[in-house]
Amino acid sequence: MTSPVLYIVVPCYNEQEVLHETAKRLTAKLQDLISRQKIASDSRMLFVNDGSRDATWEIIEELCQDNGLVCGIKLSRNRGHQNALLAGLMTAKELCDCAISMDADLQDDIEAVDKFLEQYAAGCDVVYGVRSKRDTDTFFKRNSARGFYKFMKALGVDIVEDHADYRLLSRRALEGLSEFDEVNLFLRGIVPLIGFKSGTVTYERHERFAGESKYPLKKMLAFAFDGITSFSVKPIRLITTLGFVIFFVSILVLLYSLIVWLLGKTVTGWTTLAASIWLIGGIQLLCLGVIGEYIGKIYGEVKHRPRFIIETFLKQ
Ligand code: UDP
Ligand code: MG
Repeated sequence: MTSPVLYIVVPCYNEQEVLHETAKRLTAKLQDLISRQKIASDSRMLFVNDGSRDATWEIIEELCQDNGLVCGIKLSRNRGHQNALLAGLMTAKELCDCAISMDADLQDDIEAVDKFLEQYAAGCDVVYGVRSKRDTDTFFKRNSARGFYKFMKALGVDIVEDHADYRLLSRRALEGLSEFDEVNLFLRGIVPLIGFKSGTVTYERHERFAGESKYPLKKMLAFAFDGITSFSVKPIRLITTLGFVIFFVSILVLLYSLIVWLLGKTVTGWTTLAASIWLIGGIQLLCLGVIGEYIGKIYGEVKHRPRFIIETFLKQ
């Protein structure tokens, strides 16, 4: 087998503090792999500038001038991590045999690239990077992430636990991915749907090299919620179940009231009445909210707006 052309796709949003170091380490890695003929000499790293507000793009331009292994894409504005990643992957699809996506902040261990390539050589079209431990995370993030994966699995969504967006996709897996044209992109959920033979690589996730996380709690929760509603309609089914339960309870209450009345007693219960009205009202609003969430999602999908627009592509 001839050495494959590898593209390493790195989405970047306000990453001026880390980009030089990331490029330096990726260059060393690519050069090493090229010299050992593990990958072809036209392999590249591809930085996707996701509408950064700092000097990220200027640094990418500079890197492209000085370093023959660097390519850069500038999106027309900030479109979020998943879309930026997709823009990079869809561009790489035309140029590579396989692409590895990783974060710009050096949290994903670059040394694991070798292991990804071994799996690829062994015939895997999809290789998932899985974190060996989560001790660099806060207690809250660790547990909320575990809860999230458990919940997704309980909903029947095929998702790889402790796998973020560090993964290898072969060219045909990328072509498969391009067929999924949903606007609400949650790559972690979509990639398993592509199929093909897959493998996993465990790696240790480091601390962010510099700069700060672009996923504050609010964004993280929205991301998780988006993942759930994009892949499962079970929350809606739960509403139906809830409806049945409440119906059953109401019959019991009715029977009770009837018996009390037949026994000639007055049915008391202003408190119960008031409490039930508020309770049922709350439950109904909550259910409406869940349904609304899905309608909102349909609204977004039918408009079918482009997921990203590429302003500049610096290729070499
Ligand atoms: N990112 C992006 N667009 C955004 C937010 C983040 O391209 O709107 C990139 C960011 O530059 C990084 C990756 O997505 O390369 C992951 O973000 P981050 O490291 O902040 O997330 P965390 O590791 O804290 O979950
Ligand atoms: Mg990070």
